[in-house]
Amino acid sequence: EVVVVGSVNADLVVSVDRRPAPGETVLGSDLATYPGGKGANQAVAAARLGGRVGILARIGDDGHGELLRSALEEAGVDLAHLLVSGGPSGVALITVGPDGDNSIIVSPGANARLEPGDVPAEALAGAAVVSFQLEIPLPTVEAAARAAAEGGARVVLNLSPAAAVPDEVLALCDPLVVNEHEAAFLLGHDGAPGVPEAMARDLLDRGPRSVVITLGAQGALVADSSGVHEVPSPKVEAVDTTGAGDAFTAALCLRLARGDALADAARFAARVGAAAVRKPGAQSSYPSVGEDLPAL
Ligand code: ADP
Repeated sequence: EVVVVGSVNADLVVSVDRRPAPGETVLGSDLATYPGGKGANQAVAAARLGGRVGILARIGDDGHGELLRSALEEAGVDLAHLLVSGGPSGVALITVGPDGDNSIIVSPGANARLEPGDVPAEALAGAAVVSFQLEIPLPTVEAAARAAAEGGARVVLNLSPAAAVPDEVLALCDPLVVNEHEAAFLLGHDGAPGVPEAMARDLLDRGPRSVVITLGAQGALVADSSGVHEVPSPKVEAVDTTGAGDAFTAALCLRLARGDALADAARFAARVGAAAVRKPGAQSSYPSVGEDLPAL
C-alpha cells in the first residue's frame, strides 16, 4: 500500500543541566538509544496502523544498523529494499536541556549514500502512495518521486528538514506536507510564519496538487482545488511531541492509499498525531491498530 523512501537514524539522547561551551565538558544522564529517522518513523507508524508498508533506505554495517533493522522488522515493515552500506548508520545526537528543549546534530551516515540508482522502479511499482522526506539526498528524492508518479503512485512529500526543492518535484506532490516553519521557509518569509490560511493558498500556487500544513495542537489545514479546510486535533496532554509530524504523515499516507479523500485522511492523521504526543519518544509513542485513538 505504502512505500517510504527516506532516512533511518539511531537517536542518541542525553539529558543535561546545561550545554557545554566550546572546550568545556559537562556530565549528562545515561545515554538512551532509540530507533528514529523520519523515513523509519513513518514506515513504523504506518505499519503499526495495519498498513502493508515497505521502506527504501540505507543503513550502515555497524551496531546501530542492527538495532534499526530490527525495529523496522518488529513493526512488520517490508525490508526487501533496505540496503546496507559499509560505514556508519545515520545518527542523531540529541541533547535534552532542563526545559525539555532539544538540540540535535544529525550525522547522515548511510542515508547520504542512498543514490538515485538505489531506487529501482519495481520497488515503487504497486504502491498506492510513495512517501518522501528530505533526510536523504535531493537527487534521490527527485528521481524516485518521478518514477513513483510515472508508475501511477500518489507522491506525498514532507518537506522536512526544510530545503529548496525544484518546482517539478513540487508539482508531483499530492499533498505537500509541511509544518508552519517549513511553509514559511518555502514561501521565503523570513522569521515568523504568516497566517496559515494564506500560506496554504500561497503554497498551492507554487504547484503541488494539494497542501497540508500541520499546526501542532491546532491540528492542520488542508488545501486543494476545492479550497482550504480546517482539520482540528483532539485535545490531549502533550508529553513529548517528537515524531508527531511523522505519525501524522504516515497515517495520512495510509488512508490516502486506502482511497480516503484528503480531508478525511487528514482528520484521521490528526488523531494519530495527537496519540503520538501522549507518550515519550517517536516510534515508542505510535499507536497500534485496534488501540483507542483520542477522539475529537
Ligand atoms: P511537526 O512535529 O512536524 O512540527 P506538528 O507539531 O504540527 O508537526 O504536529 C503534527 C500533528 O500532530 C498535528 O497536526 C497534530 O495533529 C498532532 N499534534 C502535535 N502536537 C499536538 C498537541 N500538543 N496536541 C494535539 N495534537 C498534536
